[in-house]
Amino acid sequence: MQVVVLGNGITGVTAAIGLRALRPDWRITIVSGESTYHYSRPALMYVFMGHMRYQETKPYPDRFWSEQGLELVRAWVDRIDPEAKVLECRDGSKIPYDRLLIATGAKSNKFGWPGQDLMGVQGLYNLMDLRLLAANAERARRAVLVGGGLIGVELAEMLKTRGIDVTFLVRESSYWNNILPPEESAMVTELLREEGLDLRLETELDEILDDGSGRCRGVRTKGGEEIPCEIVGLTAGVSPNLSALRGSGIPCGRGVLVDWGLKTQVEDVWAAGDCAEIQTEGEGRNLIQQVWYTGKAQGEVAARALAGEEVRYTPRTWFNSAKFFDLEYQVYGFVPPKKGEENHHFWIDADGKKSLRIVEKEGQVLGIQVMGMRLRHLVCERWLKEERSLEYVLSHLYEADFDPEFFSRSLIGEVTA
Ligand SMILES: Cc1cc2nc3c(=O)[nH]c(=O)nc-3n(C[C@H](O)[C@H](O)[C@H](O)COP(=O)(O)OP(=O)(O)OC[C@H]3O[C@@H](n4cnc5c(N)ncnc54)[C@H](O)[C@@H]3O)c2cc1C
Repeated sequence: MQVVVLGNGITGVTAAIGLRALRPDWRITIVSGESTYHYSRPALMYVFMGHMRYQETKPYPDRFWSEQGLELVRAWVDRIDPEAKVLECRDGSKIPYDRLLIATGAKSNKFGWPGQDLMGVQGLYNLMDLRLLAANAERARRAVLVGGGLIGVELAEMLKTRGIDVTFLVRESSYWNNILPPEESAMVTELLREEGLDLRLETELDEILDDGSGRCRGVRTKGGEEIPCEIVGLTAGVSPNLSALRGSGIPCGRGVLVDWGLKTQVEDVWAAGDCAEIQTEGEGRNLIQQVWYTGKAQGEVAARALAGEEVRYTPRTWFNSAKFFDLEYQVYGFVPPKKGEENHHFWIDADGKKSLRIVEKEGQVLGIQVMGMRLRHLVCERWLKEERSLEYVLSHLYEADFDPEFFSRSLIGEVTA
Protein backbone atom coordinates (compact mmCIF):
# COMPACT_ATOMS: atom_id res chain seq x y z
CA MET A 1 0.00 0.00 0.00
CA GLN A 2 1.38 3.43 -0.97
CA VAL A 3 0.00 6.34 1.10
CA VAL A 4 0.86 9.89 0.14
CA VAL A 5 0.42 12.81 2.52
CA LEU A 6 0.38 16.16 0.72
CA GLY A 7 1.67 18.78 3.17
CA ASN A 8 4.23 18.50 5.97
CA GLY A 9 2.58 20.87 8.46
CA ILE A 10 1.36 19.68 11.85
CA THR A 11 -1.64 17.93 10.27
CA GLY A 12 0.29 16.00 7.63
CA VAL A 13 3.12 14.87 9.88
CA THR A 14 0.78 13.88 12.73
CA ALA A 15 -1.15 11.72 10.26
CA ALA A 16 2.00 10.17 8.78
CA ILE A 17 3.57 9.39 12.17
CA GLY A 18 0.27 7.98 13.47
CA LEU A 19 -0.18 5.84 10.37
CA ARG A 20 3.37 4.49 10.65
CA ALA A 21 2.57 3.27 14.18
CA LEU A 22 -0.56 1.51 12.89
CA ARG A 23 0.88 0.16 9.65
CA PRO A 24 4.62 -0.59 10.01
CA ASP A 25 4.88 -2.14 6.52
CA TRP A 26 3.13 0.43 4.35
CA ARG A 27 5.00 2.86 2.16
CA ILE A 28 4.31 6.41 3.40
CA THR A 29 5.48 9.50 1.52
CA ILE A 30 5.16 13.10 2.73
CA VAL A 31 5.25 15.76 -0.01
CA SER A 32 5.77 19.46 0.55
CA GLY A 33 6.97 22.33 -1.62
CA GLU A 34 7.87 24.63 1.24
CA SER A 35 10.52 22.63 3.10
CA THR A 36 11.90 19.12 3.26
CA TYR A 37 11.43 18.88 7.02
CA HIS A 38 8.48 19.77 9.19
CA TYR A 39 8.92 22.90 11.31
CA SER A 40 6.70 24.83 13.72
CA ARG A 41 4.86 27.54 11.81
CA PRO A 42 3.91 29.58 14.93
CA ALA A 43 7.65 29.94 15.61
CA LEU A 44 8.30 31.83 12.35
CA MET A 45 8.23 35.20 14.09
CA TYR A 46 10.88 34.15 16.60
CA VAL A 47 13.27 33.20 13.82
CA PHE A 48 12.87 36.65 12.26
CA MET A 49 13.40 38.36 15.61
CA GLY A 50 16.51 36.26 16.33
CA HIS A 51 15.06 34.51 19.38
CA MET A 52 15.36 31.08 17.73
CA ARG A 53 17.31 29.58 14.89
CA TYR A 54 15.37 27.86 12.11
CA GLN A 55 16.97 24.55 13.11
CA GLU A 56 15.35 24.91 16.53
CA THR A 57 11.84 25.20 15.07
CA LYS A 58 11.99 21.57 13.92
CA PRO A 59 10.38 19.37 16.59
CA TYR A 60 12.12 16.25 15.24
CA PRO A 61 15.80 15.73 14.31
CA ASP A 62 16.32 15.29 10.55
CA ARG A 63 17.25 11.61 10.98
CA PHE A 64 13.83 10.89 12.60
CA TRP A 65 12.04 10.59 9.26
CA SER A 66 14.26 7.91 7.75
CA GLU A 67 14.31 6.10 11.10
CA GLN A 68 10.51 6.02 10.93
CA GLY A 69 10.59 4.87 7.32
CA LEU A 70 8.80 8.03 6.20
CA GLU A 71 9.88 9.15 2.75
CA LEU A 72 10.16 12.93 2.27
CA VAL A 73 9.69 14.52 -1.16
CA ARG A 74 10.28 18.22 -1.68
CA ALA A 75 8.05 19.26 -4.60
CA TRP A 76 5.17 21.58 -5.43
CA VAL A 77 2.12 19.68 -6.58
CA ASP A 78 0.25 21.50 -9.36
CA ARG A 79 -2.51 18.99 -9.87
CA ILE A 80 -4.12 15.96 -8.31
CA ASP A 81 -5.47 13.39 -10.76
CA PRO A 82 -7.81 11.11 -8.77
CA GLU A 83 -8.67 9.02 -11.86
CA ALA A 84 -5.05 8.02 -12.41
CA LYS A 85 -4.33 8.27 -8.65
CA VAL A 86 -1.31 10.44 -9.22
CA LEU A 87 0.07 13.82 -8.09
CA GLU A 88 1.53 15.92 -10.88
CA CYS A 89 4.44 18.06 -9.69
CA ARG A 90 5.70 21.38 -11.03
CA ASP A 91 9.10 19.82 -11.83
CA GLY A 92 7.37 17.32 -14.14
CA SER A 93 7.60 14.37 -11.78
CA LYS A 94 4.57 12.26 -10.85
CA ILE A 95 3.83 10.67 -7.49
CA PRO A 96 1.41 7.73 -7.53
CA TYR A 97 -0.77 6.87 -4.54
CA ASP A 98 -3.23 4.24 -3.37
CA ARG A 99 -4.55 6.49 -0.60
CA LEU A 100 -4.07 10.25 -0.35
CA LEU A 101 -4.35 12.74 2.50
CA ILE A 102 -4.60 16.40 1.48
CA ALA A 103 -3.13 18.58 4.25
CA THR A 104 -2.19 21.69 2.29
CA GLY A 105 -2.96 24.21 5.04
CA ALA A 106 -4.01 27.78 4.33
CA LYS A 107 -2.84 30.93 2.55
CA SER A 108 -2.99 34.64 3.33
CA ASN A 109 -6.16 36.35 2.12
CA LYS A 110 -5.98 38.81 -0.73
CA PHE A 111 -9.21 40.57 -1.55
CA GLY A 112 -8.37 41.90 -5.00
CA TRP A 113 -7.02 45.25 -3.81
CA PRO A 114 -5.45 47.29 -6.62
CA GLY A 115 -1.68 46.98 -6.25
CA GLN A 116 -1.77 43.81 -4.11
CA ASP A 117 0.83 42.11 -6.33
CA LEU A 118 3.38 44.93 -6.26
CA MET A 119 6.85 44.28 -4.84
CA GLY A 120 6.94 45.03 -1.13
CA VAL A 121 3.40 43.73 -0.62
CA GLN A 122 3.20 40.42 1.19
CA GLY A 123 1.51 38.16 3.74
CA LEU A 124 3.10 36.20 6.57
CA TYR A 125 2.43 32.50 6.26
CA ASN A 126 5.47 30.47 5.28
CA LEU A 127 9.25 30.37 4.93
CA MET A 128 9.13 32.10 1.55
CA ASP A 129 7.24 35.00 3.19
CA LEU A 130 9.84 35.14 5.95
CA ARG A 131 12.70 35.39 3.46
CA LEU A 132 10.81 38.00 1.48
CA LEU A 133 10.17 39.99 4.63
CA ALA A 134 13.85 39.93 5.53
CA ALA A 135 14.66 41.34 2.08
CA ASN A 136 11.83 43.90 2.14
CA ALA A 137 12.79 45.05 5.65
CA GLU A 138 16.32 45.89 4.47
CA ARG A 139 15.06 48.83 2.45
CA ALA A 140 12.06 49.87 4.56
CA ARG A 141 11.47 52.58 7.12
CA ARG A 142 7.68 52.40 7.23
CA ALA A 143 5.14 49.61 6.89
CA VAL A 144 1.36 49.55 6.62
CA LEU A 145 -0.47 46.44 7.82
CA VAL A 146 -3.94 45.70 6.54
CA GLY A 147 -6.30 43.74 8.78
CA GLY A 148 -6.27 43.39 12.52
CA GLY A 149 -5.93 39.73 13.47
CA LEU A 150 -3.34 37.77 15.41
CA ILE A 151 -0.87 37.51 12.53
CA GLY A 152 -1.04 41.28 12.04
CA VAL A 153 0.13 41.87 15.59
CA GLU A 154 2.93 39.33 15.14
CA LEU A 155 4.06 41.08 11.98
CA ALA A 156 3.94 44.46 13.72
CA GLU A 157 6.12 43.16 16.54
CA MET A 158 8.58 41.66 14.05
CA LEU A 159 8.88 44.89 12.07
CA LYS A 160 9.31 46.98 15.23
CA THR A 161 12.39 44.92 16.13
CA ARG A 162 13.97 46.20 12.86
CA GLY A 163 13.15 49.80 13.74
CA ILE A 164 10.38 50.04 11.13
CA ASP A 165 7.43 52.33 11.91
CA VAL A 166 4.14 50.50 11.63
CA THR A 167 0.70 51.83 10.71
CA PHE A 168 -2.11 49.38 11.27
CA LEU A 169 -5.33 49.74 9.23
CA VAL A 170 -8.21 48.08 11.05
CA ARG A 171 -11.72 48.12 9.62
CA GLU A 172 -13.42 47.66 13.01
CA SER A 173 -13.99 50.37 15.63
CA SER A 174 -11.75 48.57 18.14
CA TYR A 175 -9.04 45.97 17.66
CA TRP A 176 -10.35 42.43 16.86
CA ASN A 177 -13.79 43.27 18.27
CA ASN A 178 -15.42 40.64 16.07
CA ILE A 179 -13.71 38.08 18.34
CA LEU A 180 -12.95 39.89 21.62
CA PRO A 181 -15.59 41.40 23.94
CA PRO A 182 -15.33 45.20 24.28
CA GLU A 183 -13.21 45.21 27.47
CA GLU A 184 -10.50 42.87 26.16
CA SER A 185 -10.58 44.56 22.77
CA ALA A 186 -9.99 47.91 24.51
CA MET A 187 -7.07 46.41 26.46
CA VAL A 188 -5.35 45.29 23.26
CA THR A 189 -6.17 48.52 21.43
CA GLU A 190 -4.51 50.50 24.24
CA LEU A 191 -1.52 48.16 24.34
CA LEU A 192 -0.90 48.51 20.60
CA ARG A 193 -0.86 52.30 20.97
CA GLU A 194 1.49 52.03 23.96
CA GLU A 195 3.80 49.93 21.80
CA GLY A 196 4.04 52.85 19.42
CA LEU A 197 1.88 51.53 16.59
CA ASP A 198 -0.03 54.04 14.54
CA LEU A 199 -3.37 52.26 14.88
CA ARG A 200 -6.05 53.54 12.48
CA LEU A 201 -9.44 52.19 13.47
CA GLU A 202 -12.42 52.17 11.09
CA THR A 203 -9.98 52.63 8.25
CA GLU A 204 -10.02 50.54 5.08
CA LEU A 205 -7.51 50.06 2.32
CA ASP A 206 -8.55 51.42 -1.07
CA GLU A 207 -5.40 51.00 -3.16
CA ILE A 208 -1.71 50.17 -2.88
CA LEU A 209 0.32 52.74 -4.78
CA ASP A 210 3.01 51.95 -7.37
CA ASP A 211 6.29 53.92 -7.34
CA GLY A 212 6.46 53.53 -11.12
CA SER A 213 8.85 50.59 -11.03
CA GLY A 214 6.45 47.94 -9.79
CA ARG A 215 7.23 48.48 -6.10
CA CYS A 216 4.83 49.89 -3.55
CA ARG A 217 5.36 53.46 -2.36
CA GLY A 218 2.36 53.71 -0.05
CA VAL A 219 -1.33 53.10 0.34
CA ARG A 220 -4.47 55.13 -0.12
CA THR A 221 -7.28 54.57 2.39
CA LYS A 222 -10.97 54.67 1.52
CA GLY A 223 -11.03 58.03 3.28
CA GLY A 224 -8.61 59.32 0.61
CA GLU A 225 -5.53 59.62 2.83
CA GLU A 226 -2.17 58.57 1.37
CA ILE A 227 0.24 56.87 3.78
CA PRO A 228 3.77 56.39 2.44
CA CYS A 229 5.47 53.04 3.15
CA GLU A 230 7.85 50.54 1.61
CA ILE A 231 6.13 47.40 3.00
CA VAL A 232 2.44 46.52 2.94
CA GLY A 233 1.57 43.50 5.11
CA LEU A 234 -1.64 41.72 4.14
CA THR A 235 -2.88 40.20 7.38
CA ALA A 236 -6.62 40.07 6.85
CA GLY A 237 -6.93 36.40 7.80
CA VAL A 238 -6.24 33.16 5.96
CA SER A 239 -8.30 30.76 3.85
CA PRO A 240 -7.81 27.11 2.82
CA ASN A 241 -5.04 26.54 0.29
CA LEU A 242 -6.70 24.74 -2.61
CA SER A 243 -4.13 25.45 -5.33
CA ALA A 244 -3.34 21.75 -5.88
CA LEU A 245 -7.02 20.88 -6.26
CA ARG A 246 -7.83 22.99 -9.31
CA GLY A 247 -9.23 20.77 -12.03
CA SER A 248 -9.06 17.66 -9.85
CA GLY A 249 -12.80 17.15 -9.55
CA ILE A 250 -12.49 16.80 -5.77
CA PRO A 251 -15.44 18.85 -4.46
CA CYS A 252 -14.46 22.01 -2.58
CA GLY A 253 -16.41 24.80 -0.91
CA ARG A 254 -14.35 27.29 1.04
CA GLY A 255 -12.11 24.30 1.83
CA VAL A 256 -11.84 20.68 0.69
CA LEU A 257 -15.25 19.24 1.55
CA VAL A 258 -15.08 16.26 3.90
CA ASP A 259 -17.45 14.34 6.15
CA TRP A 260 -16.91 13.85 9.90
CA GLY A 261 -14.57 10.98 9.02
CA LEU A 262 -12.41 13.52 7.07
CA LYS A 263 -13.19 11.69 3.81
CA THR A 264 -13.68 13.65 0.61
CA GLN A 265 -16.33 12.70 -1.93
CA VAL A 266 -13.64 10.99 -4.03
CA GLU A 267 -12.52 7.42 -3.40
CA ASP A 268 -9.33 6.98 -1.37
CA VAL A 269 -8.84 10.70 -0.75
CA TRP A 270 -9.07 12.37 2.69
CA ALA A 271 -8.37 15.96 3.78
CA ALA A 272 -7.58 17.44 7.19
CA GLY A 273 -6.30 20.52 9.00
CA ASP A 274 -6.48 24.12 7.83
CA CYS A 275 -7.47 23.16 4.27
CA ALA A 276 -10.49 21.01 5.22
CA GLU A 277 -14.14 22.05 5.48
CA ILE A 278 -16.20 19.57 7.47
CA GLN A 279 -19.76 19.26 6.23
CA THR A 280 -21.88 19.26 9.35
CA GLU A 281 -25.12 18.29 7.59
CA GLY A 282 -27.79 20.10 9.49
CA GLU A 283 -25.70 20.39 12.68
CA GLY A 284 -24.88 24.06 12.05
CA ARG A 285 -22.40 25.80 9.76
CA ASN A 286 -19.67 23.80 8.07
CA LEU A 287 -16.56 23.67 10.21
CA ILE A 288 -13.16 25.05 9.19
CA GLN A 289 -10.64 24.93 12.03
CA GLN A 290 -7.35 26.72 11.53
CA VAL A 291 -5.23 26.47 14.65
CA TRP A 292 -2.33 24.25 15.63
CA TYR A 293 -4.02 21.86 18.02
CA THR A 294 -7.01 21.23 15.72
CA GLY A 295 -4.55 20.35 12.93
CA LYS A 296 -2.90 17.88 15.28
CA ALA A 297 -6.25 16.44 16.40
CA GLN A 298 -7.49 16.04 12.82
CA GLY A 299 -4.12 14.52 11.83
CA GLU A 300 -4.57 11.85 14.51
CA VAL A 301 -8.01 10.96 13.16
CA ALA A 302 -6.75 11.02 9.56
CA ALA A 303 -4.04 8.47 10.46
CA ARG A 304 -6.68 5.99 11.54
CA ALA A 305 -8.86 6.75 8.52
CA LEU A 306 -5.93 6.13 6.15
CA ALA A 307 -5.26 2.85 7.95
CA GLY A 308 -8.79 1.76 7.04
CA GLU A 309 -10.59 2.31 10.35
CA GLU A 310 -14.09 3.77 10.62
CA VAL A 311 -13.49 7.08 12.40
CA ARG A 312 -15.27 10.25 13.39
CA TYR A 313 -13.57 13.51 14.23
CA THR A 314 -14.95 14.97 17.46
CA PRO A 315 -13.85 18.56 18.06
CA ARG A 316 -12.37 19.18 21.51
CA THR A 317 -13.32 22.15 23.64
CA TRP A 318 -12.38 25.26 21.68
CA PHE A 319 -9.05 26.75 22.73
CA ASN A 320 -6.87 29.50 21.37
CA SER A 321 -3.90 31.39 22.72
CA ALA A 322 -1.64 34.16 21.51
CA LYS A 323 0.57 36.97 22.65
CA PHE A 324 -0.02 40.59 21.75
CA PHE A 325 3.56 41.79 22.26
CA ASP A 326 3.97 40.80 25.95
CA LEU A 327 0.26 40.46 26.70
CA GLU A 328 -0.78 36.81 27.02
CA TYR A 329 -4.22 35.76 25.75
CA GLN A 330 -6.09 32.49 26.21
CA VAL A 331 -9.67 31.47 25.53
CA TYR A 332 -11.43 28.21 26.40
CA GLY A 333 -14.92 27.27 25.21
CA PHE A 334 -17.62 29.80 24.37
CA VAL A 335 -16.73 33.46 24.88
CA PRO A 336 -18.72 35.52 22.38
CA PRO A 337 -17.69 39.09 21.52
CA LYS A 338 -21.22 40.35 22.17
CA LYS A 339 -23.27 39.38 25.17
CA GLY A 340 -26.29 37.19 24.40
CA GLU A 341 -28.47 35.31 26.82
CA GLU A 342 -25.49 34.09 28.83
CA ASN A 343 -24.00 35.94 31.82
CA HIS A 344 -20.52 37.43 31.65
CA HIS A 345 -18.45 37.86 34.82
CA PHE A 346 -15.45 40.06 34.18
CA TRP A 347 -12.55 41.12 36.42
CA ILE A 348 -9.71 43.44 35.52
CA ASP A 349 -6.81 44.45 37.73
CA ALA A 350 -6.22 48.03 38.80
CA ASP A 351 -3.55 48.57 36.10
CA GLY A 352 -5.83 47.25 33.37
CA LYS A 353 -3.18 44.69 32.35
CA LYS A 354 -4.72 41.44 33.57
CA SER A 355 -8.27 40.25 33.17
CA LEU A 356 -10.45 37.21 33.61
CA ARG A 357 -13.85 36.58 32.01
CA ILE A 358 -16.11 33.67 32.88
CA VAL A 359 -19.17 33.09 30.72
CA GLU A 360 -21.98 31.17 32.35
CA LYS A 361 -25.56 30.22 31.59
CA GLU A 362 -28.06 28.68 33.97
CA GLY A 363 -25.35 27.91 36.49
CA GLN A 364 -23.00 26.20 34.03
CA VAL A 365 -19.69 27.70 32.93
CA LEU A 366 -19.49 27.83 29.12
CA GLY A 367 -16.24 29.70 28.59
CA ILE A 368 -13.19 31.26 30.23
CA GLN A 369 -10.92 33.96 28.83
CA VAL A 370 -7.80 35.51 30.33
CA MET A 371 -5.52 38.35 29.33
CA GLY A 372 -2.14 39.10 30.85
CA MET A 373 -1.67 35.65 32.39
CA ARG A 374 -1.93 31.95 31.62
CA LEU A 375 -4.21 29.24 32.91
CA ARG A 376 -3.63 25.51 32.86
CA HIS A 377 -5.15 24.10 29.69
CA LEU A 378 -6.16 20.68 31.02
CA VAL A 379 -7.80 22.13 34.12
CA CYS A 380 -9.97 24.59 32.17
CA GLU A 381 -10.87 21.97 29.60
CA ARG A 382 -11.91 19.57 32.39
CA TRP A 383 -14.14 22.16 34.07
CA LEU A 384 -15.95 22.84 30.81
CA LYS A 385 -16.35 19.16 30.07
CA GLU A 386 -17.63 18.50 33.58
CA GLU A 387 -20.10 21.40 33.15
CA ARG A 388 -18.94 23.03 36.39
CA SER A 389 -20.76 25.92 38.03
CA LEU A 390 -19.43 29.44 38.43
CA GLU A 391 -19.07 28.89 42.19
CA TYR A 392 -17.06 25.72 41.62
CA VAL A 393 -14.72 27.34 39.11
CA LEU A 394 -14.16 30.38 41.30
CA SER A 395 -13.44 28.33 44.40
CA HIS A 396 -11.01 26.08 42.44
CA LEU A 397 -9.37 28.79 40.35
CA TYR A 398 -6.04 28.28 42.10
CA GLU A 399 -5.85 24.83 40.39
CA ALA A 400 -5.59 26.58 37.01
CA ASP A 401 -2.99 29.14 38.09
CA PHE A 402 -0.06 28.61 35.73
CA ASP A 403 3.48 29.09 37.07
CA PRO A 404 2.49 32.01 39.29
CA GLU A 405 6.14 32.58 40.18
CA PHE A 406 6.56 34.18 36.74
CA PHE A 407 3.98 36.86 37.47
CA SER A 408 4.44 39.74 39.85
CA ARG A 409 0.90 39.36 41.14
CA SER A 410 -1.62 36.71 40.23
CA LEU A 411 -5.13 37.93 39.52
CA ILE A 412 -6.43 34.54 40.60
CA GLY A 413 -5.59 35.45 44.20
CA GLU A 414 -7.49 38.71 43.85
CA VAL A 415 -10.58 37.14 42.33
CA THR A 416 -10.83 34.39 44.92
CA ALA A 417 -9.90 36.56 47.93
C1 LIG B 1 2.54 33.27 11.30
C2 LIG B 1 1.60 32.26 11.90
C3 LIG B 1 1.53 32.11 13.27
C4 LIG B 1 0.64 31.19 13.83
N1 LIG B 1 0.59 31.07 15.19
C5 LIG B 1 -0.26 30.18 15.74
C6 LIG B 1 -0.33 30.02 17.16
O1 LIG B 1 0.35 30.71 17.91
N2 LIG B 1 -1.20 29.08 17.66
C7 LIG B 1 -1.98 28.31 16.85
O2 LIG B 1 -2.76 27.49 17.34
N3 LIG B 1 -1.93 28.45 15.50
C8 LIG B 1 -1.09 29.35 14.93
N4 LIG B 1 -1.04 29.47 13.57
C9 LIG B 1 -1.88 28.61 12.76
C10 LIG B 1 -1.21 27.24 12.60
O3 LIG B 1 0.14 27.41 12.26
C11 LIG B 1 -1.94 26.44 11.54
O4 LIG B 1 -3.26 26.20 12.01
C12 LIG B 1 -1.27 25.10 11.24
O5 LIG B 1 0.05 25.31 10.81
C13 LIG B 1 -2.05 24.34 10.18
O6 LIG B 1 -1.39 23.14 9.92
P1 LIG B 1 -1.62 22.34 8.58
O7 LIG B 1 -0.70 21.16 8.65
O8 LIG B 1 -3.07 22.08 8.38
O9 LIG B 1 -1.16 23.32 7.40
P2 LIG B 1 0.26 24.06 7.14
O10 LIG B 1 1.04 24.24 8.38
O11 LIG B 1 -0.06 25.27 6.35
O12 LIG B 1 1.03 23.03 6.23
C14 LIG B 1 0.65 22.77 4.89
C15 LIG B 1 1.86 22.39 4.09
O13 LIG B 1 1.43 21.96 2.80
C16 LIG B 1 2.31 22.47 1.83
N5 LIG B 1 1.61 22.61 0.55
C17 LIG B 1 0.49 23.32 0.31
N6 LIG B 1 0.15 23.24 -0.99
C18 LIG B 1 1.09 22.47 -1.57
C19 LIG B 1 1.30 22.03 -2.90
N7 LIG B 1 0.46 22.36 -3.90
N8 LIG B 1 2.38 21.27 -3.16
C20 LIG B 1 3.25 20.93 -2.19
N9 LIG B 1 3.10 21.32 -0.90
C21 LIG B 1 2.03 22.08 -0.60
C22 LIG B 1 2.71 23.83 2.37
O14 LIG B 1 3.91 24.27 1.81
C23 LIG B 1 2.83 23.56 3.87
O15 LIG B 1 4.12 23.20 4.21
C24 LIG B 1 -0.17 30.40 13.00
C25 LIG B 1 -0.10 30.55 11.61
C26 LIG B 1 0.78 31.46 11.07
C27 LIG B 1 0.85 31.61 9.57
